[in-house]
Amino acid sequence: MSDNANILPASDQNLDAAAAHLCTGGLVAFPTETVYGLGADARNDTAVARIFAAKNRPSFNPLIVHVLDLQSAAAFGHMDARAEKLAAAFWPGPLSFVVPRRAESGLSLLVSAGLDTVALRAPAHPLARDLLARFGGPIAAPSANAAGEVSPTTAAHVARSLGSNIDLILDGGACAVGLESTVIDLCSDRPALLRHGAITLEQLEGALGAVDDATRPTDGQAPRSPGQIARHYAPSIPVRLNADMAAPDEILLGFGPSCPATAENLSRTGDLTEAAANLFAALRALDRPEYRAIAVMPIPGTGLGRAINDRLRRAAEAHNV
Ligand code: AMP
Ligand code: MG
Repeated sequence: MSDNANILPASDQNLDAAAAHLCTGGLVAFPTETVYGLGADARNDTAVARIFAAKNRPSFNPLIVHVLDLQSAAAFGHMDARAEKLAAAFWPGPLSFVVPRRAESGLSLLVSAGLDTVALRAPAHPLARDLLARFGGPIAAPSANAAGEVSPTTAAHVARSLGSNIDLILDGGACAVGLESTVIDLCSDRPALLRHGAITLEQLEGALGAVDDATRPTDGQAPRSPGQIARHYAPSIPVRLNADMAAPDEILLGFGPSCPATAENLSRTGDLTEAAANLFAALRALDRPEYRAIAVMPIPGTGLGRAINDRLRRAAEAHNV
């Protein structure tokens, strides 16, 4: 795979090329101070769906959205006094905030895996910042490795893992930190550490006062991993899977050419990347009290279809408990 990988030195010309790829919905791997990120325009549903396809992730986890500074972060999420204090102390740097999404943020719903929250980070790496400035928008970027592999800290790691699945790999040498960013949840009164990283719990408490350690199992309770804290998005009405058609009191969510033309369709051509890009917006659109349930046509369980089915199953199970 690495034979076809497009690794380029981070020259002025190649940074412009990387920004141009982002503008047209492409995927660009770039160095940050933590690990290499796999970047896409965070406002473009199809581009974000391509991230999940390239990583071959079997589920949709919310992604971190990279921005230049506090001011741009505030356009996408509600940055309260605690976020401002932490940003003053640690941004730019390896710290991500989970905050309520602004309704008018313009971000892809897929970037938040359908949730009303968003993770924001201003990275310190000069090349990441240069790319953000040239692109002029928010960059969604998980680590640039295939699902199940360790995070990449060199351009060669990225090439080996993702190879020709991405448009361009900007080579900025080895990452300094080599650990993922710290993730802190600021959505409730008690700030909660969701993931350990380069900024420590002690540093956060020094700036903010008490922070819950949500990365550790608490007595008798199940571990509160970031994925569990995030809670999975589910519509408020039941979801019925593998439906051929909708009952009179149901609404159909279709997939592929056999779906009636008037119904909401994740992808008329049966394209799984298009379906992933539309998934959360479609569920929200059909989640209305006048329907008893959303009846979803079968989605093939290959490629991105696995992640789509994972989310649909969770949504269906949310009403079976
Ligand atoms: P990655 O992008 O692979 O570095 O992983 C992002 C990390 O941030 C994961 O641990 C996510 O669970 C966490 N995260 C991102 N967005 C949110 C969110 N909206 N709510 C909770 N956790 C989040
Ligand atoms: Mg990762």
